[in-house]
This record gives sequence, C-alpha cells and structure tokens, in this order.
Amino acid sequence: MLENLPTLTEVVRIYGLGANKKLGQHFLLDMNVTDKIARLAQPLTDCHIAEIGPGPGGLTRSLLKADAAGVTVIEMDERFLPALKDIADVSDGRLSIIKGDALKVHIGHELGNQRPIKIAANLPYNVGTKMLINWLTEDPLFWTQAVLMFQKEVAERIVAGPGDSGYGRLAILSQSVCTCRMAFEVPAKSFSPPPKVDSAVVVLDPLPKAKRFQNLKLLGELSQTAFGQRRKMLRKSLKPFAKKYDLILEDWLASAGVEPTARPETLSVEVFQSLASF
Ligand code: SAM
Repeated sequence: MLENLPTLTEVVRIYGLGANKKLGQHFLLDMNVTDKIARLAQPLTDCHIAEIGPGPGGLTRSLLKADAAGVTVIEMDERFLPALKDIADVSDGRLSIIKGDALKVHIGHELGNQRPIKIAANLPYNVGTKMLINWLTEDPLFWTQAVLMFQKEVAERIVAGPGDSGYGRLAILSQSVCTCRMAFEVPAKSFSPPPKVDSAVVVLDPLPKAKRFQNLKLLGELSQTAFGQRRKMLRKSLKPFAKKYDLILEDWLASAGVEPTARPETLSVEVFQSLASF
C-alpha cells in the first residue's frame, strides 16, 4: 500500500539522499503540494504519465494516488532508484522506472503504444527550458498535456503576452503549440533545500493540430533575433534575418502589417507566426 511507505523525509534520511545542486535537486517533501500538482493533471485514470526527475518520489506517489493508469519515471541520478523501487513494489505494476537523461530519452518511443500520455514534473532548473522546447518541437506531438514546475521567472516567460517583461521566444514557441496557463506559485521555502527563487506550475494543453504552427525552428530563430535586441526597432534588429532569407525588409514587414519602427514586445504571437510564414 502506498500509504504504508515511509514519509519522504524518512526516505531521504534512510537512503542518504543529499541534494546534488548540479542536477538541480530541490525536493518537494510536502505531499500537499505534490497532490495539488497531480490534481491539475486529472483525469488520470485512462492516462499514462511520464514524470521527469522523480527524485525521492513525492510527485510519483501523488500521481499513483490520483489513480494514474501508469507512470513512467525518468531519473538520471541512480541514488534514487532504491526509493523509487520501493514505490514500484506497492504500485500494482503501474510504475516503471527508467534510469537515464530525459534530454536523451525519447519518451514517445519508450512508452510505445501507451496513450494518451501526459507529462508531469518538478523540473530541474538548469535544463527545464531545454526539455520543454524539445517536447514542443516533437513531431508528431506524443503528449496530450504537460503539468510542469519551473522557476517562477521561467513560468512567467511561458505564459507572457505582448507588453509583459517576460514576453519573448519562449512565450511565442509555447503559445504556438499550446494554450498555456499559470496554475499556482510555490514559495522557495516549500523545497528541501530551498532554491534561491520561487517556483510556479504551468499547464500546457496542445492546440488542435491544424492550429499549431508548424515551422517552429524558423519561428524560434525569428523571435530570438527580434528579442535579442529588444529595445531596437524591428527594421534594425531584423535586418540580418531578412538578408539571410533574401527578404526585402520593408515589404516583408508590411505583408504582416508590421510597422518598421515597431519593437518586438508589441507584436502578438500571431504576427510573429505571420512573419515566419514567408
Ligand atoms: N520530483 C522531485 C521532487 O519534486 O521532489 C525532484 C525534483 S528536482 C527539482 C529535479 C530532479 O530531476 C532530480 O531528481 C534530478 O536528479 C533529476 N534530473 C536532473 N536532470 C535530469 C535529466 N537530464 N534527466 C532526468 N532527470 C534529471
């Protein structure tokens, strides 16, 4: 029975699981918080969850408790494997453990014909954004929802709109594939050890396929170029991009209804998509 497992604090003590900062390890040992994350992903009864970086397994337990049909965890640090195995032993065969680097594991292939797949994670800060970009640019998209904890500033950059200070490439890419919403914030003191900054959970629901923007590579390059010089007018910052792609700058901007004197933070996601559709 899951309820009979030792508490997470005991697990950390029993197995000597000190945090390795290089792997972005900040644990959520309060199951009220992990239960709240698992609730965001519901309904789970027909879903397979890919959980990245389970650590001592707090969120893993919450996902199983919330009746997930199956959970596959991908953890890089082998010190956590015994604690995860203890959870697997009382999970009625619903928990599978992969030891590996989630940046290299192809989750869609690993989970084979388990569908639908949702992703849930308290992501390591150092590679969280990279993982999200990888999942957004998967084609075909193997997941139907992602419930992800990031440092708060990154979460704000995912949901930001024109005029917000965090608006840029990450918002444009994320919102070209998904509807993105900020669910709740988690103060730094909720983690062990506490990180320097607060965190927040974001829920990403993929748009219908026909509404997803296809050429994300080009859109990423365009938005990165524009926001790389955020204070500059687009006629200046996008000059090298236009040259690279043989575009007549003024005509290209005009075709998307963009004033050459505009700055990137004033343009909607749709306008960036239109600029990336030449
Ligand atoms: N989910 C646990 C929790 O909430 O207490 C731990 C979260 S901790 C922020 C991030 C976890 O991701 C750690 O367990 C760390 O070892 C793991 N991790 C870091 N980089 C990883 C990678 N590239 N692939 C898989 N796991 C990784």
